[in-house]
Amino acid sequence: MLHAMNGAACSCGKTHSFSAKVVTGAGVVHQLPEILAEMGIKKPFLLTDRNTWKAAGEQVAAILTAAGIPCSSYSLPEDAPKPDEQRVGSAVMHFDHSCDAVIGIGSGVVNDIGKILAATAKVPYIIVGTAPSMDGYASATSSMTRDGLKISLPSKGADVIIGDTEILCQAPERLLKAGLGDMLAKFVSICEWRIAKELVGEYYCPQIAQLIRSAVRLCVDGAEGLLRREPQAVQAVFEGLVIGGVAMNYAGLSRPASGCEHYLSHLIDMRSVEFGTAEDLHGTQCAIGTLVMLRLYEKLREITPNREKALTYAKSFDFADWSAQLRQLLGKGAESMIAQEAKEGKYDLAAHEKRLEVILEKWECLLQIMAEELPASKDLEALLDTIQAPKTLGEIGVEESLLPIFFMATKDIRDKYVLSRLAWDLGILEELAQTL
Ligand SMILES: [Zn+2]
Ligand SMILES: [Zn+2]
Repeated sequence: MLHAMNGAACSCGKTHSFSAKVVTGAGVVHQLPEILAEMGIKKPFLLTDRNTWKAAGEQVAAILTAAGIPCSSYSLPEDAPKPDEQRVGSAVMHFDHSCDAVIGIGSGVVNDIGKILAATAKVPYIIVGTAPSMDGYASATSSMTRDGLKISLPSKGADVIIGDTEILCQAPERLLKAGLGDMLAKFVSICEWRIAKELVGEYYCPQIAQLIRSAVRLCVDGAEGLLRREPQAVQAVFEGLVIGGVAMNYAGLSRPASGCEHYLSHLIDMRSVEFGTAEDLHGTQCAIGTLVMLRLYEKLREITPNREKALTYAKSFDFADWSAQLRQLLGKGAESMIAQEAKEGKYDLAAHEKRLEVILEKWECLLQIMAEELPASKDLEALLDTIQAPKTLGEIGVEESLLPIFFMATKDIRDKYVLSRLAWDLGILEELAQTL
C-alpha cells in the first residue's frame, strides 16, 4: 500500500516520494546483518535507554556479534530519558566516531535523539522500534525540549524502520494504547484537512487521505486484540503510525496526521514545560483530544450558521484581552503564539468576512465531510473503554476545568484551519467551549 504511491505522479499534482525501507513482521530484527551488508555498513553504533536495552538492545547486540559485525553502544542511563540538551549531549559525547551508522533501539525519545545523532555524525540511521507508541518513526524531525520550550527540531528521517512484532508485542500496555490513540486522531485530521481545502483552498491529496483511512480502519478493527497483544493488532498500529509519518512526508505537511486534537495535546505539554503540571503520553492525550473534538463537531453540526452573529462576534473580539488569557494559561510559551498573529492575520475582519461567506455558501458540503469522516463520539468512547484508555483530562491528572480554554487556544497554535478556527469564524467559539 505504502510503496504503490512511491515515486508515482499522483492525481493531486505532486510526485510523492519516500525512501526509507520499512520491514515489519515476526522475527524481522534477525534481518539486520543482511540489511547492514546491503547498505555497506561495517560498524553500527547502538543507542538505547535502560528499558529499551533490555527490551531489544541486548538482542540486537547479540545478533550482530553472532554475525561477526562489530558495534559500539551507549545506553542513556535512565528508564525514561527526557528529550533535552543534556541527553543529546551525552549521546553525542559517547558516540564512537569509528562507527558508520546509528541504530536507535527504542520508541519516542531514543528515536528522537538517535535521529539527531545520525544527522550530526552524517551517517545512516536505522530504528528498531520497541513500541508502536508514536508516529515519529518515519518523520525527519525530532520532538525535543530546547531551552525549556517544546520544539520540532529538523533532524533526519530513518533510512530503515524495523518493526519486529516479537519485540513490539512486549511493549508496556500504556505505550500500546497511546499508539492506537495517535491513530484515532486521524479521523479528525483528515476531516479538517478536507474542510481546510474547501474553506481556505489548502492543498489536499485524496490518495494520501485514503492511505490514512485504510490504516486507521485496520487499527480500529484490531483494537480488541491490542491488550491481548495479538501480533496482527500490534502490527496494524505500528504500520499505521509509520504510514502516518510517511503520509506527512508525502504531503509535505502535517495535515494527514494531526488536527485540533493534537493541538490540545500540545497545549497540555506546553503547560507542563512551563509550570510542571501533569502530562501524559502524546497518543494518550491525542485520544482524549479526539473524543473532545468529536463531541464538539456533533454540536457544530446541529447549529444553523448566522452571518450577523458571526460578524458581530468578530468585531467584538479583543485580541489584547485574548493574549492576556494565553499568557496566563501558558506563560512564556504564549509569546510565540501571540506573535504569530502578525503574520497570520486570522483575526483580521476583512479576511474573516470573506471566509464567512465561503463557510455559509459551503455549509452543506462541510456537513457532508463531517458525516463522511467522523465516527460518532459514543463509538469512540466505547473503543477507548475497550482498550481501557483514559477519556478525560482528569484521568491523566490535568485540570478538567481548563478544557474550554484549551479548546479555544488550539486555534492559535499553528497557522492551520481547524475546528476552533471554524467555530471562531462562526462566532460560536465560547458557546461550543462552554459545552465541554
Ligand atoms: Zn497525491
Ligand atoms: Zn501524533
